Amino acid sequence: MEKITSVYLDNAATTPLSSEVYKEMLTALSDTYGNASSMYQKGREADEALSEARSKVAKAIGANPSEIYFTSCGSESNNWAIKGIARANKSKGNHIITSAIEHPSVLESCKALEKEGFEVTYIPVDSKGVVDYTEIVKAIKPETILISIMSANNEVGTIQPIRAISELAKMNEIPFHTDAVQAIGTIPFNVHEMNITSLSLSAHKFGGPKGIGVLYVKRGTKIEKFIDGGQQERNLRAGTSNVPAAVGLGKAIEIAVENLEENNKKLKAIRKYFLKEVSDRIHNISLNGHPTQRLLNNVNISFEGVEGEALLMMLDRSGVYVSTGSACASGSLEPSHVLLAMGLDNEIAQSSIRFTFSPNTTTAEIDYAVNALYKAVKKVRSISAIRIYKNKVEL
Ligand code: PLP
Repeated sequence: MEKITSVYLDNAATTPLSSEVYKEMLTALSDTYGNASSMYQKGREADEALSEARSKVAKAIGANPSEIYFTSCGSESNNWAIKGIARANKSKGNHIITSAIEHPSVLESCKALEKEGFEVTYIPVDSKGVVDYTEIVKAIKPETILISIMSANNEVGTIQPIRAISELAKMNEIPFHTDAVQAIGTIPFNVHEMNITSLSLSAHKFGGPKGIGVLYVKRGTKIEKFIDGGQQERNLRAGTSNVPAAVGLGKAIEIAVENLEENNKKLKAIRKYFLKEVSDRIHNISLNGHPTQRLLNNVNISFEGVEGEALLMMLDRSGVYVSTGSACASGSLEPSHVLLAMGLDNEIAQSSIRFTFSPNTTTAEIDYAVNALYKAVKKVRSISAIRIYKNKVEL
């Protein structure tokens, strides 16, 4: 057996490109080089490849191909949905409901809208990271023109009750957007059946390439155009179509949905194994997120007395790749807004590490990672103990 020298446990940040996706993209990159808007054969070929990719996405989430818009990433999809729906419905009202634990691309879009005169209610979550449904009910008012709640959280993996929320939104005739960037491939979606008005997804989270996402928008939804220019994406998002990336996204979502059950089974087993190994060997830890209503690829743990960033760096030296909070927030020493919203204090929030698995993660890789983790936690705790002791002496 090959000697393990590194283990990638940050699949919520991004995933490696699947080999099948890579093969299809290579063909698209070399052969399907035409501009999908051109009228001649080479253009038609590119347009056909684009249409096929659009159909695959539509099929995977129960939408119509005409409701699928290619974007550059999940962040763009969230920006477009939130700003686009809010601005297009301004004559009806100026109130938006979202949650306190959304991805920055949702929260910052809401902040930008606040500057334009919109009012935003940020719904709190409980200690497991579940959005408070009754607070959403209470927040709805005649001016509410959008509810945006993520399907599953990127930091702690908690799955939100989006069926109940979308039903509530439908009853009140309010558009419902969901950021499904972390959920695609782990929870099944049927956007029509689930009364979802708009949904964001991103290829690089499920074995596809970076730099391409999708915004699903239900037919008939009032939404502003996102990029002015040519007629691409039904005249709502201009720019020459990125055909190879769309082909990659189409293939990746097809594979992810086809293998959803099988992958979840593998993830459940690997998660269970990891949790047992970690809790057997490392004490004074606490698990963050919901125990059952959760993504199966995610484990978020607080290590008492340990600085998360220090642990991350030590693990990096052993070739174990993890994350503190979300990738987008790492590098800043601010504790995660998600963990704080769940009621963790600053110190515990800063001692948290997110481990995210792939269905291909092996028990041998887990053994390697847990061993490195055990040593790193022991070391960091011993250093902090010395620091505390020294401080006491100095004081
Ligand atoms: N939404 C969630 C929940 C995410 O986890 C991420 C990425 O980490 C995004 C949106 C942004 O996706 P992208 O990296 O494609 O912009």
